[in-house]
Amino acid sequence: MLDTGTLPRAAAQQGTEHFDVLIVGAGISGVGGAYHLSHQCPGTSFVVLETQESFGGTWITHKYPGIRSDSDLYTFGYRFKPWTTAPIATAAEILKYMGRVIDENDLGPHIRYRHRIDAAAWSSETNFWTIDATNIATGEPVRITTNFLWMCQGYYRHSEGYTPQWDGMETFKGTIVHPQTWPTELDYAGKNVVVIGSGATAATLIPAMAEDVGHVTMLQRSPTYFRTGRNAVEIADELRALAIDETWIHEIVRRKILHDQSVFTGRAFSEPETVKRELLGAVRSYLGPDYDVDTHFTPRYRPWRQRIAFIPDGDLFQGIRTGKASVVTDEIERFVETGILLKSGKQLDADIIVTATGFNLNVLGDIDFVIDGRPLNFADTVTYRGMMFTGIPNMVWVFGYFRASWTLRADLVGDFVCRLLNHMKQKRAKRVTPSLRPEDADMPLLPWIDPENFNPGYLMRGMHLLPKRGDKKEWQHTQDYWNEKDEFPAIDLDGREFVYG
Ligand SMILES: Cc1cc2nc3c(=O)[nH]c(=O)nc-3n(C[C@H](O)[C@H](O)[C@H](O)COP(=O)(O)OP(=O)(O)OC[C@H]3O[C@@H](n4cnc5c(N)ncnc54)[C@H](O)[C@@H]3O)c2cc1C
Repeated sequence: MLDTGTLPRAAAQQGTEHFDVLIVGAGISGVGGAYHLSHQCPGTSFVVLETQESFGGTWITHKYPGIRSDSDLYTFGYRFKPWTTAPIATAAEILKYMGRVIDENDLGPHIRYRHRIDAAAWSSETNFWTIDATNIATGEPVRITTNFLWMCQGYYRHSEGYTPQWDGMETFKGTIVHPQTWPTELDYAGKNVVVIGSGATAATLIPAMAEDVGHVTMLQRSPTYFRTGRNAVEIADELRALAIDETWIHEIVRRKILHDQSVFTGRAFSEPETVKRELLGAVRSYLGPDYDVDTHFTPRYRPWRQRIAFIPDGDLFQGIRTGKASVVTDEIERFVETGILLKSGKQLDADIIVTATGFNLNVLGDIDFVIDGRPLNFADTVTYRGMMFTGIPNMVWVFGYFRASWTLRADLVGDFVCRLLNHMKQKRAKRVTPSLRPEDADMPLLPWIDPENFNPGYLMRGMHLLPKRGDKKEWQHTQDYWNEKDEFPAIDLDGREFVYG
């Protein structure tokens, strides 16, 4: 428990509930945060507020056909809870796994569903946050105070996806759907479907729909890299055949996958052309020598500048081979009554158009933040290691990795937060605020992430909303799990970048 002093009790006297820690969101990060708090900070009171009707975050929001992970569950799963089946998992399997974590650790009583946080105000007089939320079931306002905010709201707006506006959309006579708000009653049997986009979502949807539709076309402006292989980890299967304990298997397989990924990531930067050839070679092996891989599967960027989705058993390519699915690389001129007119002059007829065009970046959960009476402009802050922010006291945001599983970082940040809370308790500190040190005074301030390094559309569209990055690793989200796994546990909590009060 933090040294909460007397003020939280004063809040309680006014009938406002008070918690040592408030976690925003019950996705993989928030549930992980709750686990870490209950194990590493016993006696700390905490609550998780979640807008949706259940836990899962991403995995409950998305209901489109075939929804599955694009990275392996040995590393997307928590460090502390073994994953025991095939590495690429469906949303339903991930939800089951998370449900077990909640039940086995009695986290359920801490989570309040259908509670949307609207505003958060920090006071340096009281040293706590006042959270204004809405109980969506009753419409009633809910006020809670907390010493520490653990932001696990993810990075995109859950209520709606990103759909660009194309000319003539209103004239299209068929149905337009975004995968993020998929109508579960949508009947696509025998229909002609065009999926706009070529990211992980399109690559998942297309094989899942291919059997039932008349035809499905993936319409892309430019191609994406994919990795493909069996949905299995050989070493896991071998260890399981030897009846090795699942806890061991989980740890060994994680190490193996992380080792392989580290080698792959390193090679993507040191020998991009070779890696490119390998990735395209795998695609060619599925599609055959006559397929135009150059046009449809050869991206303009170097490997790893955007997330590389894993295609289990090459199912996307199998759909293309059978002729049920096809790829068109072109640009949209306009929508017409019967489909899409392309810049090349070609027309794609469709009954259903799926806009797999990505997310709207959601900075800090669409919550209005106020610090000591002043509205917070997040873009005016500098990030401390991609998890805390200059001038914002007692707050951590879990922002995972692009090139490795998100949860690897959620676990690392979880350890950091618990260590920080325990340290504050020991120091009898009521607040901690990251601040630039004297030696950082002339540091250049750069965008949150280097677009040369990683540049998906939702980040490029929203970069101006995000905190700044410095040119030292303390002031960056380095996106480097392999360094952070050693650096985070060694962070000196009495370093000058932490100002306690
Ligand atoms: C389709 C899809 C597949 C993906 N696959 C992978 C993958 O295989 N591997 C990988 O590493 N990453 C993947 N990602 C990225 C993925 O989003 C993250 O890995 C991870 O699920 C994020 O978890 P989270 O808990 O941080 O956030 P989220 O899953 O986004 O959950 C955040 C939760 O916070 C709640 N919330 C937000 N604002 C508020 C508020 N104001 N008040 C109350 N509650 C709020 C939301 O309702 C939501 O439930 C995928 C993303 C998508 C969209």
